[in-house]
Amino acid sequence: MTAALVATVVVAGLVGLAVGSFLDVVAFRVPLGLSLSRPGSYCPACDRPLAWFDNVPVVSWLALRGRCRTCGARIPGRIVAVEAGTAALFCLVAAVVRPVAAVPGCCILLATGLALGAMAADGSALAPSVTIVGTAVGAAALAVAAGTSAGWGHLVDAGIGVGAAGLAGLFGSARAGRLAIRPGLGNRSGVADGLAALVPAGAVLGWLGPWPAAGGSIVGVVVAIGAAGAASAARRSSRLPSRAEIGRTAVVAVAVLAMVGAIGTAGITSHPRRGGSALSAGRSDPPPAHWAAP
Ligand SMILES: [Zn+2]
Repeated sequence: MTAALVATVVVAGLVGLAVGSFLDVVAFRVPLGLSLSRPGSYCPACDRPLAWFDNVPVVSWLALRGRCRTCGARIPGRIVAVEAGTAALFCLVAAVVRPVAAVPGCCILLATGLALGAMAADGSALAPSVTIVGTAVGAAALAVAAGTSAGWGHLVDAGIGVGAAGLAGLFGSARAGRLAIRPGLGNRSGVADGLAALVPAGAVLGWLGPWPAAGGSIVGVVVAIGAAGAASAARRSSRLPSRAEIGRTAVVAVAVLAMVGAIGTAGITSHPRRGGSALSAGRSDPPPAHWAAP
């Protein structure tokens, strides 16, 4: 590792901690229709505003042993898991994704999936606004990366990924809609909102190229098979959450882990793509050396 790479990864980790803390706020407030900016962070049990030193990602949770300083209410481990997980995944993206200009876009799309995952884990409604805003901001960041250093072919591939994921999501929601008429599987819109998480994942898989997309898809299919097993187990047990809730959580998990799998595969195959693209080959590649020869 060069010093520059270490610095990039460290910065990404610190940004990831802050973003993870923000995602916790998004996951708690957006489903309740609360403002993201006002009031500042507070304990939902006793309403007391948090001092800055009680609001440092991961560190405060450990220092307070997972309890509110004022009222002693438990702060769920989910909170700190999102902070630490976001930081770890941002480090992975920074270490693997090239050119570096594409790191912010991939991080934003990944964070969108993590926010949906946090909401699903809380049993909250998955706000479509989070998917829409997160995907739009992430795509804009990738467009900047395409224009500055990566080449437009990547952006075309990311668009193809979004289209493919959107079609898969629509097909899935139609299926979920048909299943919803069966007893015990209500809340079909919850499943459809979960399927929307495939869209940011499609953008990441498309952008990273064919091998990472294949790797991410394999991870996604494996997770989906595991989730189907969990859902059928849940059908037999009444103390577990509803099948719709499990289905929704599982779809978001497929989307997030497909992104992680794709980024991991990009790290293993590690052929930095410089402007070319498998699906739009040659469109933005530099001309061959003999091009200008007589
Ligand atoms: Zn409290």
